[in-house]
Amino acid sequence: MGGKQQKLLISMYHYTRDLKHSRYPQIRGLDINLFRKQMEFFSENFNVVTMEQVIAAVKGKKSLPEKALLLTFDDGYVDNYTVAFPILEEFGFQGSFFIPGKTFATHQLLDVNKIHYILASAQIESLVQDVKERIDYYRGKEFDYPTTEELWNQYAVANRYDGKDIIFVKRILQTILPEKLRNQISSELFEKYVGITEEQLAYELYMTREQIRTMKKHGMFIGLHGYDHYWLGNLSSNQMRKDITRALEILDEFIDREEWVMNYPYGSYNDDVLSFIKEQGACMGLTTRVKAAEIGLDDALQLPRLDCNDFPPVTENYSNF
Ligand SMILES: [Zn+2]
Repeated sequence: MGGKQQKLLISMYHYTRDLKHSRYPQIRGLDINLFRKQMEFFSENFNVVTMEQVIAAVKGKKSLPEKALLLTFDDGYVDNYTVAFPILEEFGFQGSFFIPGKTFATHQLLDVNKIHYILASAQIESLVQDVKERIDYYRGKEFDYPTTEELWNQYAVANRYDGKDIIFVKRILQTILPEKLRNQISSELFEKYVGITEEQLAYELYMTREQIRTMKKHGMFIGLHGYDHYWLGNLSSNQMRKDITRALEILDEFIDREEWVMNYPYGSYNDDVLSFIKEQGACMGLTTRVKAAEIGLDDALQLPRLDCNDFPPVTENYSNF
């Protein structure tokens, strides 16, 4: 292929479900009907490639076809198994599934999902109020952190998916406050707004090890998404290594330790994360930077992706990339 760079679009999915008939229709996901239409669109307009093809291209062994597209699913939701997987098989497409180790090892609810369900159940104005009150209440007791106004000014910044109120709640509870306090506040708000227990939600939300095995047997690709779904770029080096090592151990039966693929939770990583995963055998890394990937030009450990909402039938954004 003579060092020629090749364009690859990578589409990112989270929840894929029948939203209308679900208990939390406000959850941000791709509805089953749109998912099917999107696969129809891909079958007519793109060449959906496998992760193995992309790995070969990254290593310079084989080129990708024109209009190459890769399908990636984050977080290990059971609706990826019950809804997306059969449709993928119907179209003869491979999906790559990135599953936090904790979800199927302990069946505990990840912070990211606690927060999604709180946001899907509460009014955002009262939620921001709740979070601010709790930040003030706990300040100076066991924990110390900046004033609420400083936190708001620094972290309430809208992005392409969410307004500043939602981003404020997410960042504070995902990574900014000390872990113990974040967990406590998230659990308080979960109890106040969501109306079921965390245990119950954890059991109905994630794929089991058996289901992951079945997908793997049917040719789907399984990759890493950390153990605890932390912002890896914000952890100490020790914590970061521990989290990734734990994930590698738990996913051992699903991955090739010499050639595995990383997907950074929240798109968060730093140079330390990159050198550690490389040392551990990672050959590719997926970020949340929004761009078409250029295989042969981009660093293989930092490949950008588009969101599933960037493609029809949702939008035509993909054509700008
Ligand atoms: Zn994730």
